[in-house]
Amino acid sequence: MEPIFENTATAFALKSDSELERAYFLFKMISNEPLVKMGSVITNFAFKAHLPVEGLIRATVFDHFCGGINERDCLPVVERMWGKGVCSVLDYSVEGKEEEDPFDSATEIILTILDFVKEKEAIPFAVFKPTGFGRFALYQKIGEKKQLTKDEEAEWQRVVNRFDKVCKKAHDLEVSLLIDGEESWMQDAADNLAEDMMRKYNKKKRIVFNTLQTYRWDRLPYLKSLQERAARDGFLVGMKVVRGAYMEKENDRAKEKGYTSPICKTKAETDENFNATIEYMIDNLDTLSIFSGTHNEDSCYRLMEMMEKKGIDKNNEHVWFGQLYGMSDHISYNLAANGYNVAKYLPFGPVRDVMPYLIRRADENTSVAGQTSRELSLLKAERKRRKI
Ligand SMILES: Cc1cc2nc3c(=O)[nH]c(=O)nc-3n(C[C@H](O)[C@H](O)[C@H](O)COP(=O)(O)OP(=O)(O)OC[C@H]3O[C@@H](n4cnc5c(N)ncnc54)[C@H](O)[C@@H]3O)c2cc1C
Repeated sequence: MEPIFENTATAFALKSDSELERAYFLFKMISNEPLVKMGSVITNFAFKAHLPVEGLIRATVFDHFCGGINERDCLPVVERMWGKGVCSVLDYSVEGKEEEDPFDSATEIILTILDFVKEKEAIPFAVFKPTGFGRFALYQKIGEKKQLTKDEEAEWQRVVNRFDKVCKKAHDLEVSLLIDGEESWMQDAADNLAEDMMRKYNKKKRIVFNTLQTYRWDRLPYLKSLQERAARDGFLVGMKVVRGAYMEKENDRAKEKGYTSPICKTKAETDENFNATIEYMIDNLDTLSIFSGTHNEDSCYRLMEMMEKKGIDKNNEHVWFGQLYGMSDHISYNLAANGYNVAKYLPFGPVRDVMPYLIRRADENTSVAGQTSRELSLLKAERKRRKI
């Protein structure tokens, strides 16, 4: 495949010189692991102690990785990206709540977003996290097939209702809806619920998309079995394919509890699994839709190659490339400039509430070998090109 990701003029066309400098400074900081660890601890402490750090966070990491505090704040960013052919996925990034009120308000926010994005070509997807709608421990208990108490049964019904409410609305408004993947020990219950939603709302169009985390070695067989059930019951399957964000947690828990880790033994195995899953989906595009969520250049080139080989149009409505806002712009903008469907997750939410998301991004960029240094070298190249 002709290399396209080195074009830094296209990659950073939306960044002013000062934004470019801020990004460079930010990734330089993030590349320093002890600094990130210390920064996370200090920031958590500062928020708990009500110290006035919000302005500082907002002007640095928040503005780089998030679109704003609410969905309306995000619009200028959405429009700027859309001007370069890159779509947005508004991502309400408030995590780790354990009470009913936030679950209800998260549901309301997703419903509002669906209304907000309907008929906006620039925002073809909405997204939510299963644990945004219900307690982690409840998903886990259901996945483990343990007996629920009467109260828990009622609680679960409320989770099911929340899923149904947003999926029905997405279906009625014809907006595709991505459901994020989380830790394996709660994922079975979420997968079953997502499958029920596909059965109900994906009869004609691929509205509901679940997530396959290909660092798990059991996901391609899972997809194949889901596809059989879909053929039998007459529904279509949408899947976001990612490598997976919880590897260390997964391996640590498996070790601690003494079961075989669900995670591939090596990075190479995960890579192979990711590419094999995408290939399988490309071969079955008549009933499967792909949202390939990755910052891995090789995986993107492979998908492009597969499409070319099979004569699939670059803008085929069933193939999407996805990256996170603030990361891998060289992939997103160059793919879009070459005619592919691209959407970036654009997180938003109150600064304090999106901190766990931001800390994960910082951690990920520190731990994902090569990713930060790649961002830095691209930013460096663009600074040099612009002579700043
Ligand atoms: C648009 C988008 C949506 C996302 N949604 C989700 C989601 O819903 N759920 C979720 O869990 N993650 C999600 N992610 C994050 C994703 O799973 C990855 O953590 C992240 O993108 C890094 O992987 P990569 O393919 O971009 O790049 P790479 O740098 O090529 O891969 C890094 C990944 O490889 C795997 N890996 C690394 N070392 C090893 C090893 N030794 N053995 C086995 N595997 C290894 C890990 O999964 C690691 O995150 C999303 C990412 C994007 C871009």
